[in-house]
Amino acid sequence: MGEYALAPRLKIELVTIFPRMFDGPLGESMIKRAVEQKLVQVEAIDLRLFAEGRHRQVDDEPYGGGRGMIFKPEPLFKAVENLRNRSGHTRPRVILLTPQGRQFNQELARELAQENHLILLCGRYEGVDERVRTGLVDDEISIGDYVLTGGEIPALVLTDAVVRLVPGFLEEETLVEESYAAQLLEYPHYTRPPEYRGMRVPSVLLSGDHGRIALWRRQQQLERTRKRRPDLLKKAELSPADQRYLDSLDSLNDQ
Ligand code: SAM
Repeated sequence: MGEYALAPRLKIELVTIFPRMFDGPLGESMIKRAVEQKLVQVEAIDLRLFAEGRHRQVDDEPYGGGRGMIFKPEPLFKAVENLRNRSGHTRPRVILLTPQGRQFNQELARELAQENHLILLCGRYEGVDERVRTGLVDDEISIGDYVLTGGEIPALVLTDAVVRLVPGFLEEETLVEESYAAQLLEYPHYTRPPEYRGMRVPSVLLSGDHGRIALWRRQQQLERTRKRRPDLLKKAELSPADQRYLDSLDSLNDQ
């Protein structure tokens, strides 16, 4: 951890009908520490507090018929307006988690880590009234091409990925080398013992030669990305030496 800010660097408010779902994941390990140290503030907001009536109903049947229930617009609008009002001068970025949104990735996580305040809206059932999309949110984000029962897990995924990129959370060097940092996957890691069940640690890593180790790691990154995610290589910043190495792998393949 780096220096601790007096005011949190980033505030994330998670609007949900299941606020307790966040207790476990946010109450452990590094995110818990970042919250305790006031680097970030993460708060689950109960959507029902903004619903009317004895039953505090947040959902209703779809117009035109069909299966399932839809989140009504009023509680979500009221929740966001309330959170905006109490946020003072910061302008929160309001995000709806939805499988129809743009795909979340490390680049988007980096962009969101630059914000001061995020409000994440977690849908349930068949989703939310379309007017929430058109009249309330700044962004719609999906965590992948599959459908979950609710937006809480996607909101946690986004929170975890974004919080670890907030300046001061991790050491800079960790972020420079890890997967997706420069559109490359990370190199393989090994720890003790040097041999396990006949599988040896590559000798270069035991050599103590930092130059050779750095070169090996870079080449492993290139090789791994080329094999597993060739799409990333097209966007990666490659040096002439990187390019030569990739060309040598291509020519090996051609033989
Ligand atoms: N009927 C909706 C559709 O087909 O687009 C899916 C609704 S889903 C069962 C309920 C809620 O889970 C959504 O409103 C959204 O908040 C969340 N959700 C499900 N899958 C998601 C994903 N891949 N990314 C982000 N949010 C997701």
